[in-house]
Amino acid sequence: MTATILDGKKLSKISEQSIKQKVENLSEKGIKPTLATILVGNDPASETYVRMKRNTCARVGMESIAVELSETTTTDELLQTIKNLNSDDSVHGILLQHPVPSQIDERLCFDAIDITKDVDGVTCLGFGNMSMGLEAYGSCTPAGIIRLLEYYEINVEGLNAVVVGRSPILGKPMAMMLLNLNATVTICHSRTQNLDSIIKNADLIVGAVGIPKFIKKDWIKKNAIVIDAGYHPEQCGDIELDNIDEHVSAYTPVPGGVGPMTINTLILQTLQSAEKRVNN
Ligand code: NAP
Repeated sequence: MTATILDGKKLSKISEQSIKQKVENLSEKGIKPTLATILVGNDPASETYVRMKRNTCARVGMESIAVELSETTTTDELLQTIKNLNSDDSVHGILLQHPVPSQIDERLCFDAIDITKDVDGVTCLGFGNMSMGLEAYGSCTPAGIIRLLEYYEINVEGLNAVVVGRSPILGKPMAMMLLNLNATVTICHSRTQNLDSIIKNADLIVGAVGIPKFIKKDWIKKNAIVIDAGYHPEQCGDIELDNIDEHVSAYTPVPGGVGPMTINTLILQTLQSAEKRVNN
């Protein structure tokens, strides 16, 4: 049997159509959903990510406000920028592009984002609420992965899920989201021993390691579900996906799997924040 391709590109296009319609509806009520993006420094990859996010806003008719700060920005200056955006009623979502230059206390700045505008799901409060099953905007990459699984009607309840990576924006929230959906979750990281044998037992694997093709095809159980969150310039992810379609039951391609869902989830959550403003 050939594997199901979990096509994030397709789902994000479908979702964009519906977001676009809802943005139009809000615009008719005088509300223009608006995402503020903050880019600190000159990291070319971060510049590209922010540009892609702003382009997506434009495609669906949303406003975006680009705040660009120099490489030498201090924590206090960034905190002041976030404070200003928190109190700006025209802004519905705030994206602080990660990573920020090393002199900045990134955690302090993430946590300064007002919870109602934390559409990228980066605050400790949002993570805590999500983990407890309370209302929260999920961290966009794992939340996008869950949307993709739901779209393809993959029920994770009771599955042995192995998440490789425990970063605050990806591995940890991914594990909590899968746990909340009643998967049995194992979280692996750089000090994990016998990783290959843990993965061999997985019904569902999420690769969020940041090393190209780190998870080998022959570690993966037959008919497993494979989610590759990695993305590398050589157009591959964190999992060896070559000729994987005869081996697994479903997988996310790279590119075109997880990546498009991340941006789409950011835009969707910005829309939801704007909708809440109308309803409150
Ligand atoms: P990160 O912050 O660097 O975290 C990497 C994680 O992998 C860490 O928890 C680390 O463990 C673990 N790790 C490193 N080496 C390992 C090893 N040898 N064995 C097992 N675990 C190991 O990276 P991230 O931000 O989570 O990103 C992970 C990947 O996802 C990257 O490829 C990135 O490009 C991609 N990504 C994609 C999107 C998207 O939109 N598609 C968004 C975000 C990230 P320790 O905690 O022990 O150090």
